Order: sequence, then structure tokens, then C-alpha cells
Amino acid sequence: MNDMTARPESPTKVPKLSVKELSKRFHVSGGGLLGGEARYVHAVSDVSFDLERHTTVGIVGESGCGKSTTARLVMHLINPDSGRIALDGELVATDSASLKRFRRNVQMVFQDSSASLNPRLTIEQSIMFGVVVHGASKAEARERSHYLLGRVGLDPALFAGRYPHELSGGQRQRVNIARALAVQPKVVIFDEAVSALDKSIEAQVLNLLNELREEFELSYIFISHDLQVVRYVSDTVMVMYLGQMVEYGQVEDVYNDPQHPYTQALLSSMLSVDPDERTDAAPIQGDPPSPLDLPSGCCFSPRCPHAADICRSLSPKINSTRSSRVACHLVDPAAGHPGRAR
Ligand code: SF4
Repeated sequence: MNDMTARPESPTKVPKLSVKELSKRFHVSGGGLLGGEARYVHAVSDVSFDLERHTTVGIVGESGCGKSTTARLVMHLINPDSGRIALDGELVATDSASLKRFRRNVQMVFQDSSASLNPRLTIEQSIMFGVVVHGASKAEARERSHYLLGRVGLDPALFAGRYPHELSGGQRQRVNIARALAVQPKVVIFDEAVSALDKSIEAQVLNLLNELREEFELSYIFISHDLQVVRYVSDTVMVMYLGQMVEYGQVEDVYNDPQHPYTQALLSSMLSVDPDERTDAAPIQGDPPSPLDLPSGCCFSPRCPHAADICRSLSPKINSTRSSRVACHLVDPAAGHPGRAR
């Protein structure tokens, strides 16, 4: 029986964006008319996370771990095989009107600052474009583009009439940020968006992103291979390995007390200026297995210094620990891993 006295959940308690059991595999060869056994790459498997309001979730992992594919699945730039995505508690439908609304609310900034800008449009026209498409007048769109140019540190009197090739990489990325914000989104996904910038410019852009998040009450998904950068901008962090989420928690908890052997190894490769923050974990051994031929059981087992028989036969479930949620038999009291009492 429903509890009619229960209060509905406060809207502020509902995550801004909720991703549940998102999976995608890509067909590689065989099957169908061609015959032979169909082969797939499992790009993303069962990824779940919540992006809380006005916070940033960072996604880290080695190249090819599924970070960018996860972002493209969230945006529906690639259709997921399964999974649910909810914005403000409402499931995102896949009809074109719903997706258009969703993509206005969830914008994306990519690594290549040139690729997102039409070389034949001035900076002002590039920023205005999306605003006009979503129903604003040209005068309103121009006013907003000039405001945002100023807000990202580019004087509209100097930059509005320029073309992308007349700007530096850092300036183009500021334009892409202004362009993303022009349609008043709720969530912005940054996919390696500062990775191509010089370190001094990168620091300026990261500070700008933090300011804009507060000013426009945004929530961010921040994807990067740079662990220091993710720590600087994120509230929570998800660590991915071979398309799977292996650890997820508050960023300081995960960085100070990593529970998954992969996270420990990944963080040990990040040299801290503070000797107390350096981890003793061994660097990661060997190369990741081919995504076409994943090992049975835990996908990290061929490289894990704690791998036991159970790891090679049974895939670990996600378990809650003192500091994070972790997919590893070592943290599961019921798994019977022989190293559990370490
Ligand atoms: Fe290592 Fe086993 Fe944990 Fe996988 S489940 S990370 S192999 S200890």
C-alpha cells in the first residue's frame, strides 16, 4: 500500500542528471548474412552515476576506457543499447522533440576548439546561431552573444566580428564555452576541453569554468585524462576501466583513500607535490586487454597485483566502502577473496 502521508521528494534532492545502467557495444565483424560468430566491442557496460545540482562529476581513466563514449551516449549522439537518463527527475525520451529539448539543456564542449566552430561564421554569428534556432530574435541573440563574450574574457568590440582562424586555441575554447552557455543549459559536458591548452591558459579556463558554474547555476560532467585537473574541478569522480565504472565517490575521498587496485595504480602515477599524498601502490603492469577479447571475471585481473581465482571467474559487483563505491572482490565481504583481510 502506498504511504499517502509520505511527502514527495524535494526537487532539490533529485539529481540534476541521473544515468542508470548505460551500456553500448559496437558490432565489429561476423553474424548476419556474413555468417560466422558476431564480434562486439563492449564500449560502455552498466555505467551509473548521479550528477547533483551545481556540482561537477569528473570522469577519469586511461585512453579508450569509455569516458568519451559515455558522454556521447548521455548526449544521445550515439544511441545506447540500454540504460536510462533522467534530467531533473524526468526520463529523457528519444523522440526528436524530446531530444531537441534535452540537447538545449545539456551542452557539450569538445577538445578540438576549431572543429566546433564554422570557419565561415564570425564569432558573434557562431554564438548567436543556437540562440536563434531556439526561438530568440536576432537582436536578443546578438545581445546575449556580446554579454557572454565579455563574460568569458573576450571583449566583444574586438572579437565579435573575427573568424575562428584569427583566434588562439585558448580564445577559441572560450568562444565554445560562450556558445554552449548561449542557450542557457542546465548541464555542460566538457570532453577533454582543456587538454590541448597551454598550462597557464588551462588554469585560467578552469577558474573561469568554476566561476560560470556558480553564476549560471550549472552542473558539469568533466572528462579528462589529467588526474590533477579532475581533482581541481570536481566534487565527485568516476574512475573507468575498459568501459566499466570501477570506483565512484567524493573526489577527496577517492584521491586520499582509493579502494580499487586500478584507482590506486592510476593515482600512484600522479606525482603529488605533497609527499604525504603520494600513494605506495605499484604502477599499472602491462597493457589493457583487447576490448574484443575481454578476460572472464574482473576485467582488471590480468594487470591486478591482488588477482585471485575468484577474480578470474566472477565479475565483481559494485559495493559501498567507507569512502566510495567500488567494483572489486577485495571490498566485498561475501566474495571470499583471500586477500580481503589485508
Ligand atoms: Fe583485482 Fe580481483 Fe579486485 Fe579485480 S576483483 S581489481 S582482479 S582484486
